Amino acid sequence: MPSSDARRRILIVEDEPTIAASIAARLRAEGYDTRTVHDGLAAVEAAGEYRPDALVLDVMLPGIDGLEVCRRVQAARPVAVLMLTARDDETDMLVGLGVGADDYLTKPFSMRELTARISALLRRVARAAPAPETQSALRIGEVEIDRTERRVRRDTAEVHLTATEFDLLVRLATRPRVVHTREQLLGEVWGHSAAAGIRTVDSHVRALRRKLGDGIIRTVHGVGYALESPR
Ligand code: CA
Repeated sequence: MPSSDARRRILIVEDEPTIAASIAARLRAEGYDTRTVHDGLAAVEAAGEYRPDALVLDVMLPGIDGLEVCRRVQAARPVAVLMLTARDDETDMLVGLGVGADDYLTKPFSMRELTARISALLRRVARAAPAPETQSALRIGEVEIDRTERRVRRDTAEVHLTATEFDLLVRLATRPRVVHTREQLLGEVWGHSAAAGIRTVDSHVRALRRKLGDGIIRTVHGVGYALESPR
């Protein structure tokens, strides 16, 4: 495994002790630093104090659920979130809601799949900083993207995007009007190509449209998405 992952901190939020323990054991074996909590409020507290690079976050938790944990943690500081769900239809529901997780994994899953997803998530966060030679500011209609500060303004008002929404927007904005397939976006932004991932792309496109206006991203049916200049 790459040495850059070696000291990354992962906060595991899972109320089933056996599952929590196997996730922690596997991630530690892969070289990650881990901390485990078993309920939602402890997760929010630990996220502030431990400052993890990523969260492995179960949806169904005692106290506050994984959705609320995700909202509260992301409001304080953007962090990569891999959400664990009980069923595929639960994943569909959460993707539809656009809860702000970066990826989803349905139980039961293999530890190999879990570590692959975590590794992809962290690689993406690591390369999110723009190269020095690239132009920092991008403008698409009334939307302005500052890649150095990772901020987005629409008609001068600041818009809060999750880390993944920001990366997806930048990916589309650097080549406006070019059609990107969902598989291509999945590979470039998420760094893996699991079956559930295609729906994750759709959910993040929906979130961007909700925050930046319906006109900004065009759906090319049967092909993918392209960024448009909104009127
Ligand atoms: Ca649970």
